[in-house]
Amino acid sequence: MALSGIQIFKMMPKKNCGECGVPTCLAFAMNLAAGKAELSLCPYVSDEAKEKLASASAPPIRTVQIGVDAAAVKVGGETVLFRHDKTFNNPTGLGCLISTSETDESVDKKLAAFKELRYERVGLTLKSELIAVKDEGASDRFAAIAKKASEAGAALVLISENLDSFKAALAEVGKNKPLLYAATEANLDSMSDLAKEFDCPLAIKAPKVGLLAALSAKLTAKGHKDLVLSVDNLSLAEQLRDQVMIRRLALEKLYRPLGFPTIVFPCAMSDNPIDETIVAGTFISKYAGIEILSELKGEVLFPLLLQRLNIFTDPQRPMTTEQGIYPINNPDDKSPVLITSNFSLTYFIVSGEVESSRVPAWLLVLNTDGLSVLTAWAAGKFVGDVIGPFVKKCGIEDKTGLKKLVIPGAAAIISGDLEEELPNWEIAIGPREGAHIPAYLRQNFI
Ligand code: SF4
Repeated sequence: MALSGIQIFKMMPKKNCGECGVPTCLAFAMNLAAGKAELSLCPYVSDEAKEKLASASAPPIRTVQIGVDAAAVKVGGETVLFRHDKTFNNPTGLGCLISTSETDESVDKKLAAFKELRYERVGLTLKSELIAVKDEGASDRFAAIAKKASEAGAALVLISENLDSFKAALAEVGKNKPLLYAATEANLDSMSDLAKEFDCPLAIKAPKVGLLAALSAKLTAKGHKDLVLSVDNLSLAEQLRDQVMIRRLALEKLYRPLGFPTIVFPCAMSDNPIDETIVAGTFISKYAGIEILSELKGEVLFPLLLQRLNIFTDPQRPMTTEQGIYPINNPDDKSPVLITSNFSLTYFIVSGEVESSRVPAWLLVLNTDGLSVLTAWAAGKFVGDVIGPFVKKCGIEDKTGLKKLVIPGAAAIISGDLEEELPNWEIAIGPREGAHIPAYLRQNFI
């Protein structure tokens, strides 16, 4: 049972030293009770209190890892209901279903799509991470497909109602820690033993949230920590209601039996690819830890990956690119130098336009704490007396003899200051819009 903030406070050292990041032990205790802090942040808690507080201070939704090494996917670990309250932490794992009843051709096509559908955006590789292999009565084939999917680099969800099929597959891929789907009211003990034997995360399936919580409590009492919850309900409205209910009970009431990530199957909720995509999008927002699609197609996967990227990006920290010198189109000592801010979106637009111009150039990226050019200028981070020292120290003067620095048209106002800061450089004012960069470069530097 969760402890209240006051109950936790009674066990705190009461030094009010602030080392935990908040000024008082009372504030820290309140944060612990709300699942917004970790006990390890206070170095002065006694061992006795640690023991008593261990469950009260555990994260409200456990982080569960499926798969190992490069194929590992972490799901759960969320602490807020709404992204703008803080941030969402572990993006919904996306995967596709392969059934043992499918032809070899279909299996190979799905595995090829899993490997090929990757998208580079803002310096990240967006892709699906999981493959769910469903046993429809052929344990040899179940094991063989699971092995192939694992070799393709996927984290696995193994779906079966047959213990022997699980054992055959786990003999091949057990070391890769697949998620076993699923323990139910009828097979709870045998699935518990299997998951313990192979040290794998275990999904629990039940038609109602109440029964799910009861089964989860039983498995927790047996020592299982890595659980994933599945409400066996194919109605979009009811599944959405249940996902929200699970999240709210876990976060707001710290109801431990529901403090685990969930898995949802859009593949079973619609026969129509467009509807399936809409269903999947709904549960990226609220609140699936894992989603399994019927097939990976670019027109389905790409929008879901972008939606996921947007929702799981920390709203309080702009995405940034590392400060430095970026060579584009093989520049040399006669190539011009452009400068921009380290806001990722700005960097990728500018670098893309320079690349498409085919004009060799050096691109300087200045650390503006993720602010775009105009905002950085207004904040005093993209001004002459910051850019000047950066240009002198970054090493670009050793790379080009042309000494021509192109600044963004939106920051034309700093050109005078820059001429004073960099007397050996010619300061040129580039276009205001990224789309005009190729024409500008071709006109002036070919
Ligand atoms: S670090 Fe510990 S003792 Fe210090 S204020 Fe925080 S909770 Fe209190």
